[in-house]
Order: sequence, then C-alpha cells, then structure tokens
Amino acid sequence: MPNTNRVTLLGVPFDANSSFARGTAGAPAAIRARLFSPAGNMHTEDLIDLSADKRLLDGSDVEVSTFPDDITAAAQNILNAGSKPLALGGDHSISYPLLQACSGKYPSLTVVQFDAHPDLYHDFEGNKWSHASPFARIMEDGLAQKLVQCGIRASSIHLREQQERFNVLPLPIGQPLDIGRLKLDGPIYVSIDLDSLDPAFAPGVTHPEPGGLTTRELIDAIKALPANVIGGDIVELNPLKDPSGITTAAAAKLVKELAGKMLG
Ligand code: MN
Ligand code: MN
Repeated sequence: MPNTNRVTLLGVPFDANSSFARGTAGAPAAIRARLFSPAGNMHTEDLIDLSADKRLLDGSDVEVSTFPDDITAAAQNILNAGSKPLALGGDHSISYPLLQACSGKYPSLTVVQFDAHPDLYHDFEGNKWSHASPFARIMEDGLAQKLVQCGIRASSIHLREQQERFNVLPLPIGQPLDIGRLKLDGPIYVSIDLDSLDPAFAPGVTHPEPGGLTTRELIDAIKALPANVIGGDIVELNPLKDPSGITTAAAAKLVKELAGKMLG
C-alpha cells in the first residue's frame, strides 16, 4: 500500500496568552521564510524529500478572534482532510486547542513535550489559558492519556506537585535523552517549545533558560520516537529576540525533522 501520509503546516500567529512579552506572533512568517528559502532544500537528514508528491502542505494562518475555538476548528479542518497538523506558534497556549482537535480523532494520545518549563500552572496571574498553563488544562480535560516532559529545568514546588498529580513521565535534564526506554506506543503528539534548547543554540525565545538541550540532542530524540506521530507544534520562537536568525534556523530545521517523522 502506498504511504498516503500528509502533513499540513498551520500558522498560529497568536501571542495573547504570553505572560511576559509579546513577539511570538511573528514566528510563523519567520519560520516559513527560512523553511522555503533557496538557501536550503526540503530534504530531511534521512533524505525524505518533503517537497515530493505534496507530502508537506503549507496551510494558511489561523486568525484567532476567539481562543481556543478558532485554533481548534483550524486543526480539525486539517484532520478532516486526512492530513496531520503541524502548527507553527505562537505562544505555548496553542497546544490546548490543537490537542482538543487531535484527541477527538485519537482518544488515547501520548504527548511528548520538550520545554524548559513544565507549563502546568493551575493558572498564571489569573489567566487559566496562560502559556504557563496549557498542560494543566490538557491533562484535566483528558486530552492526553500520558504526558512525557523532556528538558525541564525551571520548575517550582507547585509545578512538581502538578507533575505528580498528572503522573507526568519526566526525562530529567542532565541524563541522556533516552526516549526509547519509555517504550511508547499508540498515537503520539509532539510539542516543541524552543526554550527546551540551550540559549547557546536558540537565544531567540521569550524565556531563555540556560542549561538546556543541544539542537543535536533534540533532533535525535525526535528520530528515536516511535513512528505513529499524528500531530505537533513548534512554539515560542520570538523573532524580535532573534536578530541573527539562529533560532529561526533551528525552528525551520525542527519543522523538517518533525514533519519527516510524521510522514514516516
Ligand atoms: Mn518554556
Ligand atoms: Mn512552554
């Protein structure tokens, strides 16, 4: 049977749930400019040609006037068309509506989150939709069966209690990122907060946190995931803080490698 997998990019230029500084709304355009630049090509490291046979489709941006519903509907459209959504954030709050859509089609999802922060605040400064809270809402509402967190290095007592409450599987920073040992099965959604990377590799995020992953470690972790990745997002790139473009380049590379995994 031919491989009929498709991935559709969904731009989500939305940063209204950022607690500290805006700017991530500019990320989808910046990532696309880099991704489709003549400076590179559309092959993954494992030589999957994303430009062949319309395997990677570039959807439009979703205009968000109502959060979370507008984003949920946009992701649902992609799923209904038989493709897999890969969202370009935006701040991390967008993972909730994306998972609302994906969990409707795949009821027993595992979420693999790469992030410096657990994003499990019950609420943050009174905003239950804060980009510091999406995974609390996701787990409360049963949108994922299992949450794996990688790269966490800026937590708190409250956040650790929330990790215990939601039975989070942590892959602690400072140890080899051995995703294979978790023996994940079933459908997987991958959420990549670019601040999971060390600021040496990705300084252009709103909340840089030293001591993070290398770009190489993150790419290899994506490659080590089981095949059934049904959706994902790449969030928190802040082009206003990325004058050299190094973080945008990392984001575009991660789009390719994650899309390659989703097509696999
Ligand atoms: Mn983060
Ligand atoms: Mn985050």
